[in-house]
Amino acid sequence: MVDVHCHLNFKSFSEDYDEIIKRAEKAGVTTIINTGTQISSSTRAVELASEYENLYAIVGVHPHHADKLEDGWIEELEKLTKQPKVVGIGECGMDFYAYASNGIVDPKLQTEAFEAQIELAHRADLPLQIHNRQAGKKVIEILKHHKNSLKTGIPGMFHCFAGNFDFLDAALDLGFYIGFDGNTTYDGLAKEEDTDLKDIARRTPLERIVIETDSPYLPPEPHRRSRNEPSYAIITAEFIAQLKNVSFEDFDLVTTENARAIFQLDARP
Ligand SMILES: [Zn+2]
Ligand SMILES: [Zn+2]
Repeated sequence: MVDVHCHLNFKSFSEDYDEIIKRAEKAGVTTIINTGTQISSSTRAVELASEYENLYAIVGVHPHHADKLEDGWIEELEKLTKQPKVVGIGECGMDFYAYASNGIVDPKLQTEAFEAQIELAHRADLPLQIHNRQAGKKVIEILKHHKNSLKTGIPGMFHCFAGNFDFLDAALDLGFYIGFDGNTTYDGLAKEEDTDLKDIARRTPLERIVIETDSPYLPPEPHRRSRNEPSYAIITAEFIAQLKNVSFEDFDLVTTENARAIFQLDARP
C-alpha cells in the first residue's frame, strides 16, 4: 500500500516521525508520499524523502496560502522539483470553504497560484496532486483551460476527493485518479457536501483509486478523535475494498499499482 498524501513534514510529527514510518511499514504501508502546503513544508518533505528510501515528496502551495506568497516562490518550488525524489506538484488547487481561521482566500489569488503550479508541473513533467474544497466547478474549468499543459498519460490525482457525481465524472474524463481518505468511513455527509463519499467510492473505477491518509488529519473510524498516521491507510483501504466487493489483497494490489503509475515510482531512485 502507498499512502499517496500525508504530512509527516508537519510539526505534529517532528518528535516521532521515525516511529510512525516504521509502524506504517509494519502494517503494510510500504511507501509514503509527503505533500507540501507551502515552501517550508515542501522543503521538509524533500528532506524526509532523502532520509528514507521509501519516502517521496510532492512540492507545492495550498490555496490557503495563496495570499501569503513571497516574490520568487515559484522559482523556489522549481528548484525543489530538480530533487530526484520529488514526484509531483501539490497540494495545489482551489478552496472556497469559509474557514474560521482565515475565511476564503481571494479566489483571484488562488487561481493565479494554481495556474502557476499547473505550468510548473508542465515544465517539470510532473503530475498534479490537487486540493479541492467546494470549488469543483472552478477547478475543472481551470484544468480544461490549461489542458495542453496537463501531463500526457496520467495528469495527476485529486487528493481527498469530495463533490458530486458530475464533478467526479469530469475529473475522470480528464484522466485524473481519485484519492480517498479516512473520512470515507464517517457516517453521514460532511458540512456543505451533498454526495456521500461512500457513493463516490462505489462509482469510481478501482483502476482509478488511490489511498491516502492526509495525516495528521481525517483519521478513519474508530480513531476519529486521535492524530491520523499512515498505518491507518490500511483501515480505509479495507473499508473501501468492502464497498467495492473486492478482496483486500486485490484492492491493495491495484491501488498500489495505480499510485506507482501516477508518480512513476518505478523510475525513481
Ligand atoms: Zn488538501
Ligand atoms: Zn493535505
